[in-house]
Amino acid sequence: MRKSLHSCKRIVVKVGTSTLMHSNGNVNLRTIEKLTRVLSELRNEEKEVVLVSSGAIGVGLRKLQLETRPTSIPEQQAIAAVGQSELMHIYSKLFGEYGYPVGQILLTRDVTDYPTSRENVINTFNTLLNQGIIPIVNENDTVAVEEIEHITKYGDNDRLSAIVAKLINAELLIMLSDIDGFYHENPLLNPAAAMFDEVHEVTDELLQLAGGKGSEFGTGGMLTKLAAADYCLKNDRQMVLANGDDPDIIYDIIAGKKNRDVVYQFKTGGILS
Ligand code: GLU
Repeated sequence: MRKSLHSCKRIVVKVGTSTLMHSNGNVNLRTIEKLTRVLSELRNEEKEVVLVSSGAIGVGLRKLQLETRPTSIPEQQAIAAVGQSELMHIYSKLFGEYGYPVGQILLTRDVTDYPTSRENVINTFNTLLNQGIIPIVNENDTVAVEEIEHITKYGDNDRLSAIVAKLINAELLIMLSDIDGFYHENPLLNPAAAMFDEVHEVTDELLQLAGGKGSEFGTGGMLTKLAAADYCLKNDRQMVLANGDDPDIIYDIIAGKKNRDVVYQFKTGGILS
């Protein structure tokens, strides 16, 4: 039986670069601070929380004072190496304020595809969670590249977060993005466009609606969110898509007022009812 959002104990929260950073390329401290406070409070309420955070490249660009993302893979990987440690420094400091240590888990696709390493990663997640440590996950951008023979890359963190949710048996994936939800039409073209309340199956028609480019700093777009939703649906998980501008929205999501027998929900803000 599927669980109500309120009773979900193990939760993955995915946050994208566009939520963590301002459009001018600076780190959005206000949002990150709030996010760490909300997730710490969930831990206080005895939920098990895993954060999948993008931002390595975005934060690395800022740290190195680069205006644009270089095109070469070694340069991008070097930026991610700088940004990832900076990002963890920020998280460690802020979660530390609330008494929670953090643990970094950097994954590549081959690691979660191969049974032995997958098992080891699951054990690490479980140990961190049992010890009250907040696992913070990202793709290991410094080594993951597109290769044909040896597939290391997930491609985007929307997909990665859905894989992590299944891997660790989380009941709920909350995907925070810079969009309120999934619309019947492009809301930029039609401000009156209505939003889907619930989606139970990712059909070709929906994929058609989701076509479009991602944001300037991250790699995700609605298409990758739908692909993640499809993965969640097929693996019997719930996913909520919500705007991460105000991370307090996570409280509303989890406070879902009634049982909802759905696997995939789009959250418009306010309270789920
Ligand atoms: N792993 C990338 C980063 O941390 C982001 C990938 C994504 O947002 O999908 O910059």
